[in-house]
Amino acid sequence: ARQFFVGGNFKMNPNTKAQTLALAELLNNAQLDPNTEVVIAPPSLYLIPVAEKLNKPVELAAQNAYIKTSGAFTGETSPSQLFEAGIPWVILGHSERRVLFQETSELVAQKTRAALDTQLKVILCIGETLEERESGKTVEVCEAQLKHVVAQLKPEDWKNVVIAYEPVWAIGTGKVATAAQAQETQAEVRKYLAKGVSPAVAEATRIIYGGSVTASNCKELATQPDVDGFLVGGASLKPEFVDIINARK
Ligand code: 13P
Repeated sequence: ARQFFVGGNFKMNPNTKAQTLALAELLNNAQLDPNTEVVIAPPSLYLIPVAEKLNKPVELAAQNAYIKTSGAFTGETSPSQLFEAGIPWVILGHSERRVLFQETSELVAQKTRAALDTQLKVILCIGETLEERESGKTVEVCEAQLKHVVAQLKPEDWKNVVIAYEPVWAIGTGKVATAAQAQETQAEVRKYLAKGVSPAVAEATRIIYGGSVTASNCKELATQPDVDGFLVGGASLKPEFVDIINARK
């Protein structure tokens, strides 16, 4: 069985180190389902202080990384710098990176390759816009985003990848996908992995849902057979994040 996985993507929040450490403290003081793997992604500036603060089996993720190890790439962070700093995970291909920072699926695939080569584990985000969903292109779009990654990875790489299905129309909008919508798309993504990689990889890879997940909608989503957890934005900055971690408890 696939281990339930809940990620907290803080994005460019909170505004202070003290508030960020308070979120770590919230997890330190909470009863977390020991069956859930928990990973949080604070802003890069706060990764190390948060890592030092945590006394729970909660791992850290960066929200982005570059394709190179070092060099003249002003403003970027390398996978090996993250690894050396003790940060085991990186989120790649988030729709905010794709849309606001023009990251193509090809670049996301190169970043995934570079991160895995550096022994980082990857939360790989995919998902369609509202227009794409309404024109019946959801599965096609997700497959097109995954295709480049499938081409870059060897079957054994997939054990270090979690796929986050995050429909763009559900991110930060309060418009959560229904359990049926998440299940349907995520089952299709799993089928694509079976076909494009192998049935064993498809069976073992966690596919999680992201987009307006809250304490009140997580339980129903978590009952779906192809929903292996969540990537949480806004609600990961609030005490209800604990309830989402415990969605299957
Ligand atoms: P929200 O939970 O705020 O909708 O954000 C989801 C997300 O983008 C997580 O990566």
